[in-house]
This record gives sequence, C-alpha cells and structure tokens, in this order.
Amino acid sequence: MKKLVKVLALTAVAAMALAGCNSAKDDAKVITMATNAEFPPYEYMENNEVVGIDADIAKAIADKLGYELKIENVDFDSLIPGVQTGKYDFSMAGMTVTDERLEQVNFSQTYATGIQSVIVKEDSAIKTVDDLFAEGASNKIGVQLATTGDIYCTGDIEDAGLGTVERFNKGADAVMALTSGKIDCVVIDNEPAKVFVANNEGLKILDTEYAKEDYAAAIAKENTELLEKFDKALGELIADGTVAEIIGKYIPAE
Ligand code: GLN
Repeated sequence: MKKLVKVLALTAVAAMALAGCNSAKDDAKVITMATNAEFPPYEYMENNEVVGIDADIAKAIADKLGYELKIENVDFDSLIPGVQTGKYDFSMAGMTVTDERLEQVNFSQTYATGIQSVIVKEDSAIKTVDDLFAEGASNKIGVQLATTGDIYCTGDIEDAGLGTVERFNKGADAVMALTSGKIDCVVIDNEPAKVFVANNEGLKILDTEYAKEDYAAAIAKENTELLEKFDKALGELIADGTVAEIIGKYIPAE
C-alpha cells in the first residue's frame, strides 16, 4: 500500500512537471525568459548555458521577484509570437522598442541603448552609411531575420530599389557571407558587430551609424501584472547601479 501511494505521488509529480513545460505562467516559482543566444555580449552560449548581459539582468530581476529563472533559446522571430501566446513570460534579446512591436507586446522600461552599425570589408567601396542610400546604389545587405536591421534595410534599401537584403538566422552567418564575398555589408547592432569584427580578419565597422535604438524586455499585453512588477524591479536595479555594473562587466569602457 505504501508503495502504491509513493508511485501515485511520483506520477503526480511527473505529470505536474510535464504540464509545467508548456505553461510557465501557471508555475508560481519559475519565470521563463525567451532569448536568441546569437547576440554577444547580450546573450550567447557558454558551456551549454545562455550567458550575457540580458541573462544577468533577468536573473537579478527574477531574484528580486522571488522566481527561479528559466531561459529558453529560440529563433529571434519566435520571440514575440511566443510571448504573445504566453509560452514565455517575457523576452530579453537586445530587443529594440519599435512602434510595430508595441502593437504586439508591451515593453518594460529600457535598460540599454543600441546602435545599428554597418560592417564592411576593410577595402569596401561603402565608406559611409549614406553610400547605401546613394542614387544608383545596388548593394547586397546581410541582416539577421526579423531584426530592426532587417526592417530598416528592407524599407530604406530593398523597397527603394537600392539593393537587396539577404536574411540570415544568425548574425554570425551574415558576417561569414560578408567574409566570403557573397554580400557587401552587414547591418547589425553595434555590440555584436564589435565581437564579430574582432573574431574575423579584414572587417571593420563604419564610423557613421545607421540608427540609434532602445532595448527593453517584451511582455504579453494581457500580463500587466508582470509588467508592473518587472518594471519596478528593473527600475530599482537601474537606480542602484546593478544594471550599469552588469553592462560594464561585458562591455568594458573604451
Ligand atoms: N536590436 C535588434 C532588434 O531588436 C536585434 C536584436 C537581436 O538580434 N537579438 O531587432
């Protein structure tokens, strides 16, 4: 009899664990963050674990709110749909606040700024960002699918007949295509750009910037309760210097 009770109890625990996989929201103790760990130093893989600025800030927020943080590594273009359907409680992925995204999700307060930079080969004919928009321009631009780099270049360049946009799942793959001469430049956020340029010979970042942006966490529109708690915790971590300290740990002052 004792044994049977034990078996039943174990089955119940297993069932709860299984159910927990798909409904992070119902689990009071775990909070699930989705990210795309292809974006150093904000998120990248190290020893099979997602690490980086966003992971550290999210951990500090989860600690404050009394949650255990679980991080799911998914494609960038799955982040917003996953947050919208409640598969993930929030997303942090160096994600830029845009009007279009604000129609789909809510954003926390911003915790960092980003810049869309242009990576070219050292001997490139593209000297400034304006060269991309010059009359008669016809460059092949590499971007990461569904990022703001993709959105801007599709509108400003492809739709304007000034070139074509090649969309890659990973920024690193776009950079590889640039190195091998398949494309003329990569438009991507400045911090990963610096990492990619440091890891590949013969590349440089243009001095001129494509765009300035604000990064924030995305939370489902309905989940205003989490948004409020999240913002309060994040605000405290900004005010007491924790966020600056985390960013400084990954991005040394120049
Ligand atoms: N900041 C860009 C965006 O939000 C890129 C983010 C990323 O690639 N992780 O679209």
